Amino acid sequence: MEIQGDNMKRREFLKTTGAAILGLTLGIGWKEWLYADDLFRLTLLQTNDTHSRIDPFPPDSGRNAGLGGIARRATFVKQVRQENPHTLLLDAGDVFQGTPYFNLYRGKIEYHTMSLCGYDVVTLGNHEFDNGVASLYQAMEYAQFELVNCNYQMDGTPLVHRVKPYVLKSLGEIRVGITGVGVRLDDLVAPKNREGIRYLDPRPILKEIVNILRYDHRCALVVVISHLGIDGRGDHPGDRQLARDVEGIDFIVGGHSHTFMQQPEVVRSPSGHPVHIFQVGYGGIYVGRSDLFFRRDKLVGVYSSVIPMNASLVPDESVLEHPVEFIGRVG
Ligand SMILES: [Zn+2]
Repeated sequence: MEIQGDNMKRREFLKTTGAAILGLTLGIGWKEWLYADDLFRLTLLQTNDTHSRIDPFPPDSGRNAGLGGIARRATFVKQVRQENPHTLLLDAGDVFQGTPYFNLYRGKIEYHTMSLCGYDVVTLGNHEFDNGVASLYQAMEYAQFELVNCNYQMDGTPLVHRVKPYVLKSLGEIRVGITGVGVRLDDLVAPKNREGIRYLDPRPILKEIVNILRYDHRCALVVVISHLGIDGRGDHPGDRQLARDVEGIDFIVGGHSHTFMQQPEVVRSPSGHPVHIFQVGYGGIYVGRSDLFFRRDKLVGVYSSVIPMNASLVPDESVLEHPVEFIGRVG
């Protein structure tokens, strides 16, 4: 968690300037924008670092007690999709590790319930490698969503067949390009568990991929799902460095640093283009929601909030029952 005075002030400042540039100067809120018939609305939902929290946090978890749970998240996602079918559900990695579910089923139950929840695109966190590459690949059999990463060289491992450098999604008339980046694994994963995987600096690769998405595929929105953390370590970049160095990113769905943000931070690209960085803590306690408004192909407004997964959301029965049923089926 990162809620420090300086950061909050800085964030408030960035938020205000970002919002002003993106359209709040028109003096209307996003609900009014819903009725502006020349605008298209796309909703991005995001989680990160859910860490095998299939069930809500147990009663002895302090302020997180009773919060979270994939079955509630499924209900929330369904509600949002009913309200706006042009919705994407993304996760920034570290889906694995943190509860006995992972020790027993090695990620299969996490990916399976995320599939039931309706995830579209997910990237890889360092903890996805905790049982090695072969075990991760086996868990991926249960993932009915796209997996993206562009900066791990995986040649010679089975992951190349499953993990794509980027994906394209069409929502209404808007084409969205989504890529993923992962953190340097050297200090985080035992060598035998990352055999065949090589981390490369994401910046030069992202520059190429963002150009492909923007110019070859004519994407109106470029999203990077990142497991780098909000700030990098040493020479290795985090989300703020990506936003400052790489031209053409609109939105970074962040993870790894467990940073809780009430609102996206807006960082300027080299040409002054606003890049939104958003990350929502860990454990599936919150889902981040951003409503993105487009006029023709141009992003003109971003309105974000964080929604707590609390008892006001009735758990989705089909997802709730699955872990139990799963335990009977999968060894
Ligand atoms: Zn991580």
